[in-house]
Amino acid sequence: MPQSTHMSESPKGTVRIVTLGCAKNEVDSEEIAGVLAQSGYLVDGTKPAPDVTVINTCGFLEASKQESIEAIRKAVRTKGKGRVVVAGCLAQRLGEELVRLAPGADAYVGVGQMGRFDEIVAEAFGVQRGAGPMLDVKPPHHRWADVPTRARAGRPWSSYLKISEGCDHQCTFCTIPSFRGRHVSKPIERVIEEARHLAATGTKEINLIAQDVTQYGYDLYREFTLPRLLRELNGVDGIEWIRLLYFYPNRLTDEVIEAMTTLPKVLPYIDIPLQHVHPDVLRRMKRPWEGERYLKLFEKLRAAMPECAIRTTFIVGFPGETEAEFSALLDFTKEARLDRVGAFLFSREPGTPSHEMPGQVPSRIKRERYDRLMRLQQGISREKNADWVGRTMTVLVDETRDGWSAGRSFRDAPEIDGWVFVRGEHEPGAMVEATISRGAEYDLYAEATSSEAAPIRAHAPRPAR
Ligand code: SF4
Repeated sequence: MPQSTHMSESPKGTVRIVTLGCAKNEVDSEEIAGVLAQSGYLVDGTKPAPDVTVINTCGFLEASKQESIEAIRKAVRTKGKGRVVVAGCLAQRLGEELVRLAPGADAYVGVGQMGRFDEIVAEAFGVQRGAGPMLDVKPPHHRWADVPTRARAGRPWSSYLKISEGCDHQCTFCTIPSFRGRHVSKPIERVIEEARHLAATGTKEINLIAQDVTQYGYDLYREFTLPRLLRELNGVDGIEWIRLLYFYPNRLTDEVIEAMTTLPKVLPYIDIPLQHVHPDVLRRMKRPWEGERYLKLFEKLRAAMPECAIRTTFIVGFPGETEAEFSALLDFTKEARLDRVGAFLFSREPGTPSHEMPGQVPSRIKRERYDRLMRLQQGISREKNADWVGRTMTVLVDETRDGWSAGRSFRDAPEIDGWVFVRGEHEPGAMVEATISRGAEYDLYAEATSSEAAPIRAHAPRPAR
């Protein structure tokens, strides 16, 4: 939807924003869109030959690096009289090297600069042809745009809310701290203000994101403040679902669990990337704990929230990973019976300690281990979905197609989990009560029991303690 706040005057120009990578980048792009719209540009991705093309890049893995470079080259090839501004993680990670790899853009700026994007575009227009691009990749200093500026894209009823940036952990395979910087929390007042703004623009489900949500607030308040933040967010009118993504394993404390079990809007959904479970591999990854302690944590979570949905991600083929270490991962997956498991083949990233590690695993073995793990999980996921047949749950409708409504329950985060397909075309954005009639590998099928949202009930009724 084209955005410009200067309706009376003709817009300064048209802008197309190409967003690559994760949900955090989507939020940054919405802030960039809002700042440019507020300064008189028409942000409209459908306009051919825009005056400005912004490529918000991803620099996490080699694959996303190549995708970003391709997007820049394409924008440069088709820019005509327009300008191309490259932003985001890959610009921050590579700096001048990116100018060599993908030349021809008018500006290359790092992360955290959303709040001053109108200045950046003005400078890009000031760049004389052939004079070399503007390059600004100073160490990240996250300047978030003013709250009301954020221009929502996508489904108004479901939004990501970034509560912090950067990461203080040092996982040996990860590049993120090198370009997103140290962990920086948004002040709690600002997060609440953003939640109110999102609620006022139709958001019912907020998905809290960070590199590690459990670290929230420590840099500002010298204490881990997620429980307090959840209590305050629970009081925001209009918000019905609060979902948390990216828990760090050894910070899912009793206080956090208590908040999740007592605050009605907080969903019993736990996204907790473990990466591996074998103590030797975790030691080489510089990550905490090991399988037994994770199982105990899941036991505690399931005791507190019997319905909770648990998602994790694993890396297969980490340097030195033996067949025995991989089997430990399979055994854990069998025993943990998680709702959702995602997996990555280890990506040897320059600049990370794991890049130099001995025992790099051949791609053929990585692929084979990936297939074995996902096949195992597919069966578990099917069995867990079958457990929901005959039960009723609240479904947030995202879209309708061919007489069905595709929606999500508390068990399904946007873009990464399954769907609940409800018979009948219900209003996108509506919450409908539906009884599950069939469970498939990743999705559920259901019959609507009422087209009107049941009273706010993020959690299924809890057995009396
Ligand atoms: S927790 Fe580890 S994997 Fe996640 S962003 Fe931080 S360093 Fe990377």
